[in-house]
Amino acid sequence: MTRLFRGTLLHVPDDPFAEQGGGAKRLHLVEDGALAVRSGRIVDAGDATAVRARNPGAETAVTGGWLLPGFVDAHVHYPQLGVMGALGLRLMDWLRQRTWPHEARFADAAFARAEAEGFLAALARNGTTTALVFGAHQALAMEEFFAAADASSLRITTGLTLGDRELPSELRTDPERARQESTELLQRWHGHNRLRYAVTPRFAVSASDELLATCGALLRGGPDGLWFTTHLNESPDEVAFVRNAAPTARDYLDVYDRHGLLGPRSVFAHDVHPSERELARLAETRSVVCHCPGSNRFIGSGLFPLRRHLQHGVRLALGSDVGGGPSFLILNEARAAYETQMQLGEEGVRLDAATLLWLATAGGAHALGLGDQVGDFATGKQADLVQLTPRPGGTLDARLRHAGGADDAAAALIALVGEADVTGSWVAGRRVYPHQ
Ligand SMILES: [Zn+2]
Repeated sequence: MTRLFRGTLLHVPDDPFAEQGGGAKRLHLVEDGALAVRSGRIVDAGDATAVRARNPGAETAVTGGWLLPGFVDAHVHYPQLGVMGALGLRLMDWLRQRTWPHEARFADAAFARAEAEGFLAALARNGTTTALVFGAHQALAMEEFFAAADASSLRITTGLTLGDRELPSELRTDPERARQESTELLQRWHGHNRLRYAVTPRFAVSASDELLATCGALLRGGPDGLWFTTHLNESPDEVAFVRNAAPTARDYLDVYDRHGLLGPRSVFAHDVHPSERELARLAETRSVVCHCPGSNRFIGSGLFPLRRHLQHGVRLALGSDVGGGPSFLILNEARAAYETQMQLGEEGVRLDAATLLWLATAGGAHALGLGDQVGDFATGKQADLVQLTPRPGGTLDARLRHAGGADDAAAALIALVGEADVTGSWVAGRRVYPHQ
């Protein structure tokens, strides 16, 4: 059966950073558009009248609002919904005083299960259909999370978070236990339906060389297509700690690099304070940097040097970094990315709506190795969609009435959209929000 999703279509198929010259059509907007979806895939897209004429037996599934590709969040923490909005703390104090004590609660399986379901519901409610999720430190909590993620239908890549020092004892592991528990989880869940496994040391502060060596061995010895994620160069205190703790490493990145942890399936969150050498090495290995501007601002970690990343050709994605970040909505991260660059003045990059929307959708999909499956409305892609319906009488609704073309409308969406404007999310054509 073919189903029609009718509304204002908005997507950005081509990488705006890669484009040479100008003139290419970047934002694709069809005011009265439709997608025809069959067996979870987009089989036709364009003007609603034409799509309907080409698909005469199709049943209309959805009408109204804006239809965008499902959002991609490349860095968000499962056990941190409960610490969002902690005021007054910089990174290391935020971790020690608020976050780690909360994450210790995930030793309770029933608590972990309820939090997993609540977290995944928050992703779907914010239009995020694909996410690289930073896990919990407890294998039991990750078993609960994988099971809940499988049931949610979302495209989730995640793994057991690992640390063997500079953590409360309840969160600490050791290299052998890390190897055993990670192996059990990845054997059970990696490649199961839409789930993938990511080897996940918390950050170099809390990982000994032995533990990072174990991570390298897991990546090399495991099944094909394992991912790797961790934090990098987030705050000045943390960078100083790592430099002191690893005096023979060339820099923070090198602490990971020495164990073979860089590559096209490695995602490093933040990188607010990189050296030129680190940027060159990230680009050379085709590693991904996940920019989390909302979190960087909320925790006061610094202003992301986007221009330097682009000059080196580092691959990029966007992340909410909940609970450091104050929102699950990835378009809020797009706005925060824009504002961060404006704050940098001449050093900043003037980001336009097409680039921001691309980062939130197709760019994120490519960064997570799913660019051939999701991220835009090309025929043959999976129907991962989000519907935005500005509340009648609200500011976004009022502003959009004045929109002068695609770029202006997309900019208004990025600037003004909120969680309540997300009225539907679908993965492979199946509704994941709201539940009916
Ligand atoms: Zn994080």
